[in-house]
Formats: sequence, C-alpha cells, structure tokens
Amino acid sequence: MEKVVAIHDKKFSLYIDEPTIQRRINELSHTLEKDYRNKDLLLICILNGAFMFAADLAKAIEGDIEVSFVKVSSYVGTESTGKVDELIGLTADLKGKHVLIIEDIVDTGLTIDKVIFLLQDKKPENIEICTLLYKPEAFVGKHLPKYVGFDIPNKFVVGYGLDYNELGRNLKEIYQLKPE
Ligand code: 5GP
Repeated sequence: MEKVVAIHDKKFSLYIDEPTIQRRINELSHTLEKDYRNKDLLLICILNGAFMFAADLAKAIEGDIEVSFVKVSSYVGTESTGKVDELIGLTADLKGKHVLIIEDIVDTGLTIDKVIFLLQDKKPENIEICTLLYKPEAFVGKHLPKYVGFDIPNKFVVGYGLDYNELGRNLKEIYQLKPE
C-alpha cells in the first residue's frame, strides 16, 4: 500500500525509500573517493536542507576530508543595488582546496550560482556541486551539478532534510506532494 504522510495542510506520498537513498549515497561516496584521491577535499554543506545528506555522505567517504557548514542569507543592503547575498558561517580557509558544495536539491540552480559566486572570492583550487536531488526541467542556472543522487520531475518534495514550512526534515525518506 502507498505510504502517505500529512504535513500541515498537504499530503505527500513515499517517493524514494531509505535503502534506495543510502545505496545511492554509497555509490556517490565511492565516485568521490576516486575523483578526490590525494586531494584536499572540503565539503561545504548548505544549511538547512542539506544537513542530513551531508552527514550520511561524509560518513560514507573514507579518508581525510574537511566538512564545513554555511547558510545563504539575503538581506536588503544599503547600496542602491538592493538585495545583497552573503554566506554565513564560512570559517574554513579555501585557498588551494577542492571544494564540493553539498546541496539537498538543485531546482532553478539560482541558489548554487549565488553560492559559487561568493565562494570564488576565497580562491579555492576548484569548486564542484554534489546534490542529492536535481530537477532538470526547472534548471536555468549557470553551473550544472557534477554529482547527482537522483534526477526528479518538477514536483515538490519533502523529507530527508527538505521541509514544507519547516516540518518534514526529519523523515528518513523522500516524499512527493500528492495532487489534491
Ligand atoms: P534553486 O535556487 O535551485 O531554485 O532552489 C534551491 C532551494 O529551493 C533548495 O535548496 C530548497 O531549499 C528549495 N527547493 C527547491 N525545490 C524544492 C522542493 O521540491 N522541496 C523543498 N522542500 N524545497 C525545495
């Protein structure tokens, strides 16, 4: 029987179960171990949504890696340019490091574009993106994610770090919004 959860006023049905997520994370970790062998790898987890993916991915990777956490914040600046973006919490030194941005989901890709723009200032050796979920139909960004857990259709999902109005992040699986 279809597994359904109710969050706030909406219903969501099970879309990707826990073993499938964990299997894919294991595969990704092996690819990353190969691609970053003998390199200084720094995972930068984009909060809040990527916390669970970043934790499981970091545990699955063998060898020395650094893990850092940032939040993208948008505020109205004093300049006439209006909105200014900043990365909160970035303490790691990026010089010469191989940075891997860890995202929960790449939808339009605009968040990732902002993050890369802000990180490039810190002179890392290179920057790539690893996202658990990717919505190719919605993507209009400049930077394609190199490492993708699952391509998904352009429908709203929750669970495994992703929220619907702050609830649902603690679900072990990923759920898709049920049509009304
Ligand atoms: P983008 O800038 O790529 O359009 O969107 C990135 C952010 O939008 C994600 O990090 C996530 O917070 C939010 N987002 C995009 N699609 C979904 C979705 O289907 N479900 C949830 N919960 N958040 C989403």
